[in-house]
Amino acid sequence: MLLQTILNRVQKQPGFVYGAIRFVPVRDRPGLEIELRGRKNRRPRCSGCQQPGPGYDTLAPRRFEFVPLWGLLVVFVDALRRVQCGRCGVRVEAIPWAEGKHQLTTTYAWFLARWAQRVSWTAVAQSFHTTWTHVYRSVEMAVAWGRAHQDLSGITALGIDEIQWHRGQHYLTLVYQIDADCRRLLWVGQERTVKTLLRFFRWFGPQRTAALHFVCSDMWPPYLRVVAKKAGLARHVLDRFHIMAHLSKAIDDVRAHEARTLRARGRAPVLTHTRWLLLTRPTHLTDTQLPRLAELLAYNLRAVRAYLLKEEFQFFWTYLSPTWAGRFLDRWCTQTMRSRREPMQKVARMLRRHRPLLLNWFCAKGTISGGAVEGFNNKAKLTMRKAFGFRTYSALELALYHTLGKLPEPQDAHTFF
Ligand SMILES: [Zn+2]
Repeated sequence: MLLQTILNRVQKQPGFVYGAIRFVPVRDRPGLEIELRGRKNRRPRCSGCQQPGPGYDTLAPRRFEFVPLWGLLVVFVDALRRVQCGRCGVRVEAIPWAEGKHQLTTTYAWFLARWAQRVSWTAVAQSFHTTWTHVYRSVEMAVAWGRAHQDLSGITALGIDEIQWHRGQHYLTLVYQIDADCRRLLWVGQERTVKTLLRFFRWFGPQRTAALHFVCSDMWPPYLRVVAKKAGLARHVLDRFHIMAHLSKAIDDVRAHEARTLRARGRAPVLTHTRWLLLTRPTHLTDTQLPRLAELLAYNLRAVRAYLLKEEFQFFWTYLSPTWAGRFLDRWCTQTMRSRREPMQKVARMLRRHRPLLLNWFCAKGTISGGAVEGFNNKAKLTMRKAFGFRTYSALELALYHTLGKLPEPQDAHTFF
C-alpha cells in the first residue's frame, strides 16, 4: 500500500493531491517530506474570499509540520500559487491544511494542543521533538477557536477569585461560571482592581449580567464595589472558601507571633513546625500527626485558642436558616472579640461588617456549587505550577483558559488524538 493512499484515507485535502514522498532530515532528526500540489483541472481559491480565480504565479515552496509517524517527523511541502482575485487583488491561495502564516498544519496544532491539556508544554515539545513556541502557538489557536465558539447562554452564577503569581507580587482575577450543572473558567484579567473587574463585565455584557442570580466572591473591597455597581440584581454571596482562608491566615499570624514571643523569652518554640497541624482539620491528620496536635493543645497557647475558634466556626456552614446562622455568627464574633487575639478580631470585625452578604450564602445553598471556587483555586494553582517557565502573562492566561475553560473544539480535532 502506498503512503499516499493512507494519507488520503486519514487526511484528504480537497483540491490537492499528495505527490512524492522523500526521507529528509527535519531539525536534525529523521523525517518525511510529503509533497502536496493543487489539482491540475482546478483553479486555486483566493484566501481572502474563498472564491476560485485565475492563477497569477507560484511562490517558493513552504513547509508545514504534520503529526509525526512511526518516529519520523512529517512535513508537507507545497509551492503555493497566487490568485488574481477579482475582489481581493493578488492573493495567496487558500489551503485546507493550515491557516494564514502558520508553520503547523491545523491537525498537528490540535494534536499538540490536546496533549498540552494533559502534560506541561515543555513535556509536549520534548515528546514530539518540536519547539516550545510551536506548542504555545497551538494552544493559542485552540483557545482562540474555543473562545470564539463557546456558548455563554444560561449562566446564572459567577465566582470571582484572585490568585497570586510571579512570586506573590502580582494578582490575577479569575471569573468562573459556578452553576451546579456547568462549572468553568470564563475570564482572566491582570491585577485585582476595580478596573480589572469592570473589564470583565464589559466583556460579559449587560444582558448576560442582568440574567445572573448569584455572584460569589471574597470580601476584597474593589470586587464588592464593582459587583454592587454592575450586578446589583444578583444576590452577592461571600463564599465559604474565602472566609475560611481568612481564618486560616489569622491563625497563621497568631501562631507566628506567638512563636516569636516564645523564642524571645528563650523558650522552646513548640509552634515552629506545627503550622499544618493547626490548619488541617483533625479528620485529615495522619496517625503520627494526631499525638502532636494533642501535645500542642496541652500547652493551651494563644494559637490553640485561635484554632478552636476556627473549628467552631465550621458550624456556621451547617445551618439551614439565615436567621439561625445570623445568631450563631453574632455569638461567634462577640466571643472572638473577647479573645484578645488581634488577627482573629480583625476577621470578626470584617465578618460583622459584611453580615448580610455572608448570610446570602444560605439563600444560595443548593443552587450554586459550594466547593466550586475552592476547587478551581486549587486547579489554577496546579496549572501555574505545571506551567513552570511561563514567564509571560499571555502564556499563563492561555494555559488557564486551556485547562479550566472547558472550551469547545472542532469535530475533527480528535483525528489523531
Ligand atoms: Zn478574493
